[in-house]
Amino acid sequence: MSFDRYARNSMRATVLHAFHTPLRTEERPVPQPRGEEIVVRVKGTGVCHSDVHIADGEFQEVPLPRVLGHEIAGEAEGLGDVIVYAHWGCRRCSFCRSGQEQLCPEGVEAGWVRDGGYAEYLLVPSKRYLLSLEGLDPVHAAPLADAGVTPYRAIRRIRAWLQPGATAVLIGVGGLGQFAIQYLRDLTETRVNAVDRDPAKLRRARDLGASDAVLVEEAAGLGPESAQVVLDFVGSDSTLGLAAMLVRRAGIVVQVGIAGGTTPFGMGLLSPEVHFTSSVSGSLRDLQAVLELARKGGLDWHVESVPLEQVNLALDRVRRGDVLGRLVLVP
Ligand SMILES: [Zn+2]
Ligand SMILES: [Zn+2]
Repeated sequence: MSFDRYARNSMRATVLHAFHTPLRTEERPVPQPRGEEIVVRVKGTGVCHSDVHIADGEFQEVPLPRVLGHEIAGEAEGLGDVIVYAHWGCRRCSFCRSGQEQLCPEGVEAGWVRDGGYAEYLLVPSKRYLLSLEGLDPVHAAPLADAGVTPYRAIRRIRAWLQPGATAVLIGVGGLGQFAIQYLRDLTETRVNAVDRDPAKLRRARDLGASDAVLVEEAAGLGPESAQVVLDFVGSDSTLGLAAMLVRRAGIVVQVGIAGGTTPFGMGLLSPEVHFTSSVSGSLRDLQAVLELARKGGLDWHVESVPLEQVNLALDRVRRGDVLGRLVLVP
């Protein structure tokens, strides 16, 4: 296998130096692994809306300078093509021991607290965070690491509400929402109503199996208490308010999007016994399950590859909502 880490000592990386400023392309030393660490030669990294939120200063706790990017696939020495599980836990706490490293209080995530995949190489703490792609194309597969796994876990956690004949409303049919429709279609017998502000995404929702797809300004017409489940992939004040109106008594609202919204919670404000929860990424095992679904060929997701140097144009397009599926940066 040709692996050129040893032949080079510098790499291209695109780096966020200050919030609200464009990322800068620069040369950096290729990371050198120590102990259990392993280096991945990046082949593709998905551009997630979270990356825009970080660049726009909505997560001031992210230490700068930072290489963004948490949907990463590439090649690791001795392992071939892999996808990177980006939540690196302490491996001692109860969450880590139960295989939920994404919830580890001491966890670090690639592209947030550690440098991520908007570069030619990535340093990973252990090869246990690398899952073999076994034939999936790395550029196409990269979004599975977040856009694929996050809705998978969200839906797995609320199976009790997804009985045959139940209705699920899905707000936001972007990268994550498009996977969610397919999991609901393939893994449950629920009726799916999709909501978005973009008619092209509503067409896509119908193509993927949504029974109904409506513009967000018409979504109130779905009716109060009309859904056992509302999955909010936006998470703004207005989408959470919509979710609170649509959810049926004893139903559940799952906030997945991190637009920073809130909604009042309390007796009398909401239908009786409504549940609210958030859902954050997935476990290593969830990612493995998503890879298996992808290899079976039942999942359809749209990827447009973009050269790494065009990262700021890519972030702008995501900021504007001008992407049908996922942009993947290719070094
Ligand atoms: Zn993401
Ligand atoms: Zn832990």
